[in-house]
Amino acid sequence: MKGMPTIFTHAIAGATIARIAVAGPQPKALSYAAAFVAMLPDADVIAFYVGVPYGGMLGHRGLTHSLAFACAAGLVGAGWSGTGWGRIRTAACLAAATASHGFLDALTNGGRGVAFFAPFSSERFFFPVTPIAVSPIGPAFFSERGVSVLASEIVWVWVPLLLINVVMMARARRANPS
Ligand SMILES: [Zn+2]
Repeated sequence: MKGMPTIFTHAIAGATIARIAVAGPQPKALSYAAAFVAMLPDADVIAFYVGVPYGGMLGHRGLTHSLAFACAAGLVGAGWSGTGWGRIRTAACLAAATASHGFLDALTNGGRGVAFFAPFSSERFFFPVTPIAVSPIGPAFFSERGVSVLASEIVWVWVPLLLINVVMMARARRANPS
């Protein structure tokens, strides 16, 4: 069974988006929330265990991986925090963090594509380039293949995200030297 980048990679992507959304010192809660919503779509792997067909709207990489679900997550988040611009920023940040999950999945080389337009269409999509090796789900993750998957994620996702984080931190430091 296979079909996702590892959960760590999604979490790091979400936290990085929170950092980009809030240039400068950022509320820790937003980082954690962004990391959480970036992992959330893969809650749909339970579909495998309850027998929902993979290719269906509620199958893995279906509705929870859609842009509509990302917007909904952003709206729920906005209800939870901030006022005015802060609230809009929270919503946009959480929507982007949730959407990042589907984008990363669409860059993987296996499983089904991502139903970006669910619930309006159950068509599955991949991006034209798919450099990320797909991760096995469950215990198979702790195998030799799991390790090579992690290696491909480190190269294609972690290193770029780390660079973004370093640049953002340097910028924040220049803005408020301490
Ligand atoms: Zn996924």
